[in-house]
Amino acid sequence: MKIGIFQLNGCDKCFNETYLLDKHINDNSKNEIFRVKNSEVEKWSEKDLDYAVVTGYITLENHEFVQKLSKIAKKVVGYGSCTTTGGIFGLAYQKGYDITPIAKIIPDTTLISGCLGEIEELSEILQGHPIKKSEILCTSCARKSTCEYLDEVTRQIDPQEDVESCFNDFGHLCSGYIANSCKEMCVDYGTACRGCKSSVDRAGFRMLGMFGTLMGNVEVATEATGKGGTDKLADVDDDVTESIPDVTGSFFRFNLANSVLPIGRNQSNGSIMSDIFIGRPIEELPLISGCIGGDHSISFTLDIIQAYEKGLIEDLPVSEKTVELRNNLLSLEKELNSALKASNVESYEKITNQIRKIAGNMNLSNLFFGGFKVPIDDSGDFEGYKKSIFEIREGDYQNGNIKYSLNSKGIVTKFEMEA
Ligand code: SF4
Ligand code: SF4
Ligand code: SF4
Repeated sequence: MKIGIFQLNGCDKCFNETYLLDKHINDNSKNEIFRVKNSEVEKWSEKDLDYAVVTGYITLENHEFVQKLSKIAKKVVGYGSCTTTGGIFGLAYQKGYDITPIAKIIPDTTLISGCLGEIEELSEILQGHPIKKSEILCTSCARKSTCEYLDEVTRQIDPQEDVESCFNDFGHLCSGYIANSCKEMCVDYGTACRGCKSSVDRAGFRMLGMFGTLMGNVEVATEATGKGGTDKLADVDDDVTESIPDVTGSFFRFNLANSVLPIGRNQSNGSIMSDIFIGRPIEELPLISGCIGGDHSISFTLDIIQAYEKGLIEDLPVSEKTVELRNNLLSLEKELNSALKASNVESYEKITNQIRKIAGNMNLSNLFFGGFKVPIDDSGDFEGYKKSIFEIREGDYQNGNIKYSLNSKGIVTKFEMEA
């Protein structure tokens, strides 16, 4: 079989993960697999393919290329949430970027959602097998939901304080209700699910409805409409608005471009990265950078984390053990890039497994401000590198090539990344 793998825009983690196909496809020697990077796709001129696998997000400029693929390949596969739903880069849709889920261009594309996409699922598809139907994420989560009404909605929690209750029971939004079981399992690393592998259509709306139902007890300010007896929820100064200041980023993290919401009319801030980060709460920043940073996601995420820690130096001290574990991750990132350069599959697998061991998964869910969220096997003394709840403080923050500003509610108002 002839299989072409094409990287379009954004993060290249899904593209890199396809190196593991060698390990996962039985008797891969019969296959001819080649990879085409973003900078080379326009020059690419093959004629016949059995499979075209597309990774990365799709803009208007790529439509023609994607249509061409659908003509020369027997089957097209969208691999990773960026391609299938616009993914996390689709947040820029809010600022007018036309990011297109692949099925809107080729309706019969096979879709493998997930950030990152699961290589086991891609291997099954390329071997002509159906993907096993997943269960909902909550069934494989160690936490259990009561679906009780909430007393409050909260932005930060200590994941170790109660390791059995559902995040939603603390009023800490988790989209596990509308997600499929996944390999990365952010929820095992103290991080609420943001639904990269959604189990339903219009996932953001459904989760909004679900969480709204749980919020039946939470006090909201109401205000007369002035047009009769009906009240409306206040725009400001109520518990809910205070606690979920970014509805778009919280509920539509991976599916905004696929949500049937109209493209945003907010003005762009000048780059896709600033358009993704501006408007997001500070505590969500590592969770976003860990997903989208490609082969530099570790240094990118640590720059973001350390910028804030430097700004709160007295209130957010970092232990020696945290520094040691972070340095290990930075060394692993360098090794990973060397392995990718050399197309060394064995090393790629070994290094990504080591990254997962410290960072939890390839989304780096265990990394946070002040330390790590859950204990790392055999590193002992979790108290020595445990993250803490941190104060939200207005100001300008900078580290490495990252600069950002926060308002008094801890919302990003400016984000810059030097080349
Ligand atoms: S952002 Fe996520 S879905 Fe997109 S390419 Fe990176 S890992 Fe894959
Ligand atoms: S909603 Fe989240 S924390 Fe709760 S059970 Fe489901 S996956 Fe686990
Ligand atoms: S737990 Fe993480 S990887 Fe799994 S579906 Fe949710 S956001 Fe995606």
